[in-house]
Amino acid sequence: MRVTADREICVGAGLCALTAPEVFDQDEDGVVTVLAAEPAGEGREAALEAGRLCPSGAVRVVE
Ligand code: SF4
Repeated sequence: MRVTADREICVGAGLCALTAPEVFDQDEDGVVTVLAAEPAGEGREAALEAGRLCPSGAVRVVE
């Protein structure tokens, strides 16, 4: 699994960091940062869920 997030289109909603805090964080402007680009264990399911929830489509998860 490979996780990326497009900081150009992130709207700072924060759902990714709430849903998968081990995989995503937000910087001081609220823009997404990826903490774990290749999550393992529970982080995998959480990353997929974050991809489904992200309102801007910034989160990309490729199996
Ligand atoms: S859920 Fe999407 S729009 Fe919101 S902070 Fe995360 S990447 Fe950005």
